[in-house]
Amino acid sequence: METLIKTQFGLIKYERSTNFPLQEGTFLSQSIKEAFVYLNYSLSKLKKGEVDESLVNSLFNDEEEILQILEDLIEKFKNKAIICKKERTYSSSDGNADISVLASVSEEGEIKIYNAFFNTKEIKDNRGGVIIHEVAHLSGLEGESNANESTSNPDSAEAVKNFCLCACGKLSLEEINREKESPENPEEEEQTYRPDQARAPKGQPDGGQWVYEGGGSGGSSKGESKGGTSNSEGGGSSKINKPGNFGPSMESEGNPPKGAISNTLRFCRIDESRNSTGEFVDFKDTFKIGIYRYDDTIEGPRTKSGIWSAFDFFDSGYKPESDVTVIVRLDFEYFGRDKKIQKKSIDVAYDAKSDKDGCVKIDRMSIVNLESEINGSNGNSTVDMKSDIKIRMKISSVEGRPKEVFGSANIVKNSISSADIRYYAQVHASADEKSNYAQRDKADGGIIKNYRKKTNEKDIYSGAVKISLTENTVSEIDNN
Ligand SMILES: [Zn+2]
Repeated sequence: METLIKTQFGLIKYERSTNFPLQEGTFLSQSIKEAFVYLNYSLSKLKKGEVDESLVNSLFNDEEEILQILEDLIEKFKNKAIICKKERTYSSSDGNADISVLASVSEEGEIKIYNAFFNTKEIKDNRGGVIIHEVAHLSGLEGESNANESTSNPDSAEAVKNFCLCACGKLSLEEINREKESPENPEEEEQTYRPDQARAPKGQPDGGQWVYEGGGSGGSSKGESKGGTSNSEGGGSSKINKPGNFGPSMESEGNPPKGAISNTLRFCRIDESRNSTGEFVDFKDTFKIGIYRYDDTIEGPRTKSGIWSAFDFFDSGYKPESDVTVIVRLDFEYFGRDKKIQKKSIDVAYDAKSDKDGCVKIDRMSIVNLESEINGSNGNSTVDMKSDIKIRMKISSVEGRPKEVFGSANIVKNSISSADIRYYAQVHASADEKSNYAQRDKADGGIIKNYRKKTNEKDIYSGAVKISLTENTVSEIDNN
């Protein structure tokens, strides 16, 4: 899936296979973002003449050489040249598994990410650094040694990584030089990244032991974001100040939305082209209001005025590969065209299935889609588009498929007129073919008639927003 990450140095676009469990996907994105920030930060320091000459000279022939490499690598992050695939364990061409390999580059130019990449307890390498190393392989640098051995032709992916980590104060030159003498690994037939390879030493409090501080898994996401203020850990003598401007964009993207009852819940933002952005947001951030452009897959670019909200849903902690009904209950309070207050409710069931890691993903949980104007002509909304709308949402889940849980007579598809404010809320749940956002082939979802809470239902989310259509703002309100 295409994943977008916002950073203070611009947008990263990368592809990753869909078999990353939620938290690993988040951690990977975090690591890619970190690599990108290191590269940009190193480049800007280089351009400003703020990088120690001896650092440049011990790893590269001259500044121009590393400058071009950095620019080339940065482009790869921006242009979707990074494709990550999740695999359990690295195995060499003779079929031997090696569980210590974090990542490798395949002949097809994909970065394979192995389970070891996520084992931050036992393997301390800086994951941003690992990504830089692998992307350097993608740009043709095949060497694995700490510094470039030949002066005629820089070829070491590790030297690029070392340069960036030094420029960013994560590693010191002494530490790299100390290891220069150590014996090289024999040439690998495939370029792999394993922690015991000859490279900068481990074990020092900061520099050499590239402790990855950013969370990403679990929720303890201190991250590098506090780099400027909390330099309390370690205390090594050769410590270089951390760059202070890593800023809030290094913050973990993996927080649950406000109103989450399940702490594994995530809402993922969908962009103007209706692709998943990989960015986790609050309910209020899923709304587009006022005039906005979007690309319709069938009709192409359109300008629309109105309100729209939908998001990708993730929650984990389910039995692996089990049937799960996700229930979305919405209350809409708004003014009709006759200026009278209206209240409407809908209970929707999504027919979902957890993956082998017990994660339930729903592509496009749809909430509301009101058009006051579309491509210059009037929309068909029955809502007064110059007033306020309140939307209250509760999400819960229960084991089993919707018709098993609520009875087949109680699940109905598409029984609401398109002018009704509730229409869009049931569209994707009602789809029954995969191509139309159904969560499985022959999906069972739809509107729940006569909803009654089940005793084994698990509450996941409760929240509400108020939308001002005159000011084009969305704010959170109490869900009562
Ligand atoms: Zn390598």
